[in-house]
Order: sequence, then C-alpha cells, then structure tokens
Amino acid sequence: MIKVEHLSKKFGDVTVLKDITTEIRKGEVVAIIGPSGTGKSTFLRCLNLLETPSGGAIHINGEDVLGARTDVPKLRQKMNMVFQSFNLFSHLSVLENLTLAPIKLRGVEKPAAEKRARELLQMVGLGEKADHFPSELSGGQQQRVAIARCLAMEPEAVLFDEPTSALDPTMVSEVLAVIRRLAKDGMTMVIVTHEMDFARDVANRIFYMDEGLIYEEGSPAQIFENPQKEKTRIFINRVRSCRHEVLSRDYDLYAMNGQIETFCEKQMLGKTARHNLLLLLEEILQLYKPALGQIRLSVSVEYSEKTEQLELSFTSNSATGNVLESDNPDDELPILIIRNYAEQIHFESVDGADRLQLVVKKA
Ligand code: ADP
Ligand code: MG
Repeated sequence: MIKVEHLSKKFGDVTVLKDITTEIRKGEVVAIIGPSGTGKSTFLRCLNLLETPSGGAIHINGEDVLGARTDVPKLRQKMNMVFQSFNLFSHLSVLENLTLAPIKLRGVEKPAAEKRARELLQMVGLGEKADHFPSELSGGQQQRVAIARCLAMEPEAVLFDEPTSALDPTMVSEVLAVIRRLAKDGMTMVIVTHEMDFARDVANRIFYMDEGLIYEEGSPAQIFENPQKEKTRIFINRVRSCRHEVLSRDYDLYAMNGQIETFCEKQMLGKTARHNLLLLLEEILQLYKPALGQIRLSVSVEYSEKTEQLELSFTSNSATGNVLESDNPDDELPILIIRNYAEQIHFESVDGADRLQLVVKKA
C-alpha cells in the first residue's frame, strides 16, 4: 500500500533522512521507535507531504505521490495524521470538529457527516461529549476526539506521531486502548511511539530509526528480544533498564529511589516488587558504605519481559569482595533480610571488577 524508495530529506545542509526504502502493506501496523532527533517525525511528515522529500520516491496504492499532479489535500485525507498536541479547533464543539473537514473537503452532506461523527465518538468512548467544547475535556479525551476526527475523513492509513507523549501518565492507556481497537479492526497504521510495551503488542513490525535510516527492522520479538545491531541493542537495553552511579558516601538515595519508582511504573511492576527492590537497594548500599569513596559503584535495575525477572545489580570498578559474605556481626541482620527478599543471588569477579547480582522477589 505504501512503498518508499530511497527517500531522503535535507533541511539546508543537514541530512535528516539519508536513504529510506520500505513497504507497508494494507492492514499492517508499524511502530517506529528510536532516539529523538533521528527523523521519525520527518519520515511521517514526508509520507503525507507535510514535508517535501529531497529525493526518492513514494507510491501510495501504486500512485506516485511526488509527481506534479498529486492532489495533496486528497493524499492527506488518505494518510491522515494524529499529532502529539491534539490540534482541535477550540471554538468548535466536538461534533463540529469532526464534521468540518468531511463537509468542506469531501462534500459530505451535514446530516450524514453528523451521523458518522456520532458513530465515531461512540467508538472512542465519547458519545456523550458531542456537544462539549475541547476545553471541557481532559487531555486523553481530547486526543480521542482527535483520533475520531482523523477517522471521519475515512483514511486508508493513519499516521500517529507520538500520540501519548503530551498526556498526563494517567491518560495514556485510554488513548492506547483506542489505537489498539483500530489495529484489531484492521486499520493500516504507522505509529511513532515511546511506549515500548504498546509498540511491542500492537505492531506487526518495528522500525528502529537511527542515522537517517531504518537502521533495523523486524518483528516485535526480534527487535525487543534479539536485536542484531549495536545501536538497536543499546537503545532497547536503555529503555528496559535504569542505572545510577554511586560515587561517594553522600549519595542521593531519594533521587535514586525516585528514578527507580518511575522505572517500575513504566514497566508496570507491582507494589510488592517495587517495595522489595527499594528495600534491597537500601540494605545493600549500607553494606557497601564503608567502601564508597574508594570505589565507584554502578547500580542498575533491569526488567526482562521474557523471563519476567527483575534484576538488581551492583558493579564496582575494583575488587570489594562479596558484601553478602561479610563477617562483621553488624551485617548479619541486613544480610538475612537481603537473602529473604532476593530470589537468586549471584556474585562474580571479573578482571578486578566485582559484580553482585540479585533477582528480586516479586511476590
Ligand atoms: P524525531 O521525530 O525522531 O525526534 P525529527 O524528525 O523531529 O526527529 O527531527 C530530526 C532532525 O531534523 C532534528 O535534528 C530536527 O532539528 C531537524 N528538523 C526537523 N524539522 C525541521 C525543519 N522544519 N527545519 C529544520 N530542521 C528540522
Ligand atoms: Mg518527533
């Protein structure tokens, strides 16, 4: 349905997209992930000609859209886009937001446009809000209206550019639920997102973008569990783990806890897992305390969706020995507690650096 060949885009001297070649079939859901600034938005904007590509070709259903005769407004209806900021018309009611473009651009009669608009509002769970104004709705509701408005143009594909990143965390899931529903109904979609769990379970294919290219692509399982290329691996590991360097005895435990809490929330870890993790962290740091200042300690938390294991590890840049084998009587109780909250404990010493690794009990 969408065929892209050697697409490139420069802004002045800066090449943002180097050479993109890919095909997206009807009914496919593609999620685009990658660090910011790697051209994900630019790629989407090129697909519906919000940006004019510098080179290459784009065919939509066999039609060359970079040809001079392309009807650009019509193309944008076919490949309609949902933005991070909902861009609703604030002076129009929700219903009017949905009917405006179908009436003006597609020549739909008002009653038919309103009927369809109400159906779509039902579908996104906002049947009751037809006569409200956007300012009366929450961010999540506004974004659902924006999705319904996009669908009112009867697009053949929908392009989403980070549809949840402007939302309060409590509203993300209602918007994702609507997008999931569209996927189930067979809508062709290209979704730029930072929500990795969502990308993973909604998409048929993942594009990891970097260096102006689709640096790596594959099934969700391939990209998230077994990425082949260096940068993809680094990116995937970073989003699945959080790391903190402890350089002195005066480390900021609160900042570290905050960072870890955010991480746990993102990974949707339960209360017990979070509690056990923070407790282990605090107790183990106490054991390392005498050595802090002399060693550099790197603390990392990782969650593997595959094994469902939550790992906490401490890596020191010089030999400290296993703090859990301390024979200081004061350490006896903390060590007992630690052993109780950890499912597995592993210690290894490699090239003078020590690594203590624990699997946290989640229940
Ligand atoms: P992403 O969506 O992956 O974060 P973008 O596509 O927004 O990345 O941007 C990629 C690069 O292109 C960035 O360095 C950005 O500054 C640059 N860029 C995007 N749009 C323009 C523009 N209209 N003019 C100049 N530079 C731009
Ligand atoms: Mg972007």
